Amino acid sequence: MSHLVLRGSIFTGADIIERGCVIVDQSTGSIVKVGERGEVDEPAGAKVIEVRDSAVLPGLTDAHIHFFGSKKYDMAEWVTTPETLVALRSVSDARKLLRAGFTAVRDLGSKAGTYLRRAVEEGTIEGPRIVSAAKSLSQTGGDDDLTILPLHISRELSYSYFCDGPWECRKAVRKVIRDYGDLIKVYASGSMSQGTKVRRQFTIEELEAIVDEAHAVGLKVAAHAYGEEALMNSVKAGVDSIEHGIGLTRDIAREMETRGVFYIPTLSAYLAMAPTRNEEHIRLVKRHLTEDMELAKQFHLKVVVGSDFVGCDTEPHGENYREIVSVAKYFGNKEALIATSSRAAECLGLKDSGWLREGYKADLVVAKGNPMTDVENLSPAHILYVIQNGHVHSVNG
Ligand SMILES: [Zn+2]
Repeated sequence: MSHLVLRGSIFTGADIIERGCVIVDQSTGSIVKVGERGEVDEPAGAKVIEVRDSAVLPGLTDAHIHFFGSKKYDMAEWVTTPETLVALRSVSDARKLLRAGFTAVRDLGSKAGTYLRRAVEEGTIEGPRIVSAAKSLSQTGGDDDLTILPLHISRELSYSYFCDGPWECRKAVRKVIRDYGDLIKVYASGSMSQGTKVRRQFTIEELEAIVDEAHAVGLKVAAHAYGEEALMNSVKAGVDSIEHGIGLTRDIAREMETRGVFYIPTLSAYLAMAPTRNEEHIRLVKRHLTEDMELAKQFHLKVVVGSDFVGCDTEPHGENYREIVSVAKYFGNKEALIATSSRAAECLGLKDSGWLREGYKADLVVAKGNPMTDVENLSPAHILYVIQNGHVHSVNG
């Protein structure tokens, strides 16, 4: 048995241990013990990682990304980039994510996600644990339908399955299951990347069919939702997480709190948004960054870190920690750390991850400085070691 001992200040997924110690069994890839230095027996002959002024945390999680493998923030490019090129670029993106401390990500719609997951699992490529929605679900003429193209070509190239009416929606869920998707992602409204006025998409009847079909086989449903109607429809239909979630009301927030729906506000995407003259978009972003965040706090919504980065120049994979910084800005450092560790693992349905606890998977990060006082200390330059399944990747160390 080979053991690894990590010393430093520790964030367990909920609490801080100032002078802590984590023991990892590298042969099983799991955590054996976590506690105060001196109170934990350190196995003789173990490899020790101890860096002055460093912190040990659960591996970071980004609960909303896309492996689009495109250079530009442009839907036409997302749809038309050849799949081989998407895959090659995504291999590089997966490596960057891991080396930036992300040991788990949730891919919410892409052509490459499930294949990347497989390549990581079999050890072919380096990357985080990937929970992938495979292709997303969209209504005809909705998100991801590049309407400048004839419908049959758009349908062929899209990273969404187009479906209309409850039975087509059920069939689309079955196709995602057939593609080995880990969850269902549905576009319950339009989005700003479409450029047009943002409206609800899918009826509540369609959303209910999607949720029923997904839940029947134990898959969760993540709903992209902008605007009150799309939000309320999604929550009432029983989705498990709301993505973006622009336009909360007290009623919607209360319903989300009661049902325990996760809230992924994807703040960085809006904070980094290029200036626009579209009045509606300006109004939506402003509301999100003020009223929505207030309601999320007031109703104790289960906020999770999700950058919505797609891997393009303005949202490069590897810089996803920016969303942790954005969440900290509104909810504080500790809450942001919870939102990228224990709560994120719960959102992804990973029962053995997100905590530094006995028996949990040894996915950890050693960061220079103290992210408990400043989450900027989780930038890629601060990541010294990434430990995955007990295996040590030395990054900047
Ligand atoms: Zn997204």
